Order: sequence, then structure tokens, then C-alpha cells
Amino acid sequence: MDRREAILRELNLYPQWISRASAARIAPQPPAATATDPGAMVTAGQIQQASAAPAAGGGTELGKLGWAELKQRVRDCTVCKLRAGCTQTVFGVGDEKADWLFVGEGPGADEDIRGEPFVGQAGKLLDNMLMAIKLKRGSNVYIANIVKCRPPGNRNPEADEIAACMPYLQRQIELIQPKLIVALGKVASNALLGREATLASLRGKVHDYRGVKLIVTYHPAYLLRSPAEKAKAWQDLCMAVDIMNG
Ligand code: URA
Repeated sequence: MDRREAILRELNLYPQWISRASAARIAPQPPAATATDPGAMVTAGQIQQASAAPAAGGGTELGKLGWAELKQRVRDCTVCKLRAGCTQTVFGVGDEKADWLFVGEGPGADEDIRGEPFVGQAGKLLDNMLMAIKLKRGSNVYIANIVKCRPPGNRNPEADEIAACMPYLQRQIELIQPKLIVALGKVASNALLGREATLASLRGKVHDYRGVKLIVTYHPAYLLRSPAEKAKAWQDLCMAVDIMNG
């Protein structure tokens, strides 16, 4: 068994291999301008509203910052209540010019200690998901979260915390200029798309985040709890690869 096959087995995907052709049948939709999903058309503006809300350091001002200043701003941030309860901020990791951007929800206990996103069990699964599509953390891949501080007890980040932190992610996205954003789970998807929607209704479509294509898939932590859904996550990853390959 080679490593790739081992990973697919780990993901519960082997031998249920989905070819590129059948992955294409799960319908990459036309990009945002012609997408049939009405929500996809309004996302950028809505996110803009979210970031105009009590913003970390003022949303527009962040637009001038380079990586070093932005990292320092995040380190120094005390805009929302999360910073008081976490060990350290978790900025994001990877290739700062990556084509691929994966966005999770927020740091968990392991990430809070290590200062890096997705380093716990969910992170191991994410690494395997990346490996399954021939990607590797740090190489043409950037990994970030919606909020940079661990919510207490791993609760979901609240709306005001998301609004306070989104400008940082926005600036990261502006600096990275990824070709595709993969939103991991409902919290990340809804925060990026600026609306409340089920993951099921968002999957299988190409959305738009400020001119960048965005797709959604399951959060790895959810897949650890619901391994039967891994095959659907694999469909999403195949679709992502097809989008990336044009
Ligand atoms: N879950 C997330 O959403 N992000 C992490 O960094 C770790 C777990």
C-alpha cells in the first residue's frame, strides 16, 4: 500500500475513488458572476459590513499593513473578550503567496498552546486531506482561522468576536491573494459568506469572497465525529482540485 492509498484508507475513502470526471459531475458552478446561488452574489458587501463593525484597529487602516505589522497587530490585539482567556494569538501558517487558503473556525486547546492552527487531532486529519489532493501544509497552502484567539471551552466564536477579528483575515487574504478559499465548517463558511446558511446548502457551489472563489466543506473535527461524511468531504476536495485546475 503506498502512502496515498494509506491516506485514502485513513479518510475512509478507499477504495471509493472518485475520478476527476465524476468529481466534475458534482457540478462546479459558474463563478460568482453567474452563480445560481443568490447568496453568493451578496457576500462581499455583507462581509464588508461585518468588517466595518467594531473592527480590530479599524478595518480600512489594516489595508495598508504588510505581514510583519499585521502579525504584530494581531499579537497586540485586545479588541474582543477572547484575548483575555487565551494563551496566545494564533495568526495563521503557511506559504504567504499560496494559491490555496484553508480557513477554520478558531484555535482549540492544542493550537492555543502551540500558536499554530490545526495542530491537534483535527489538524492531523486536515494534513491527510491535504495529502490526499497532493498538497502539503506550508507549500502553496496557507491555513488560517476566523478568530485568532481560542474561545473558552472550544465554544463557537460569537458574532461580535467574529466581526472584531474578520479584518485581520481580510488583510491576510489581500496579502496572500489565493486562487481558492476552502472554508472548513459552518462557522467559517457563514463568517466568510456573511450569512447564516446550512453547510448542506452551501456545499457543491462556487461562492465568491471579494473576488476570490470560495468553496465550503466539512470541518475536520466534525469528520472525526462523523466519519461517514468523509466521502462527501472527498467530493468537495475533488471539486476544489477541478476549480484550481481551471
Ligand atoms: N479547529 C479550528 O477551526 N481551527 C484550528 O486551528 C483548530 C481546530
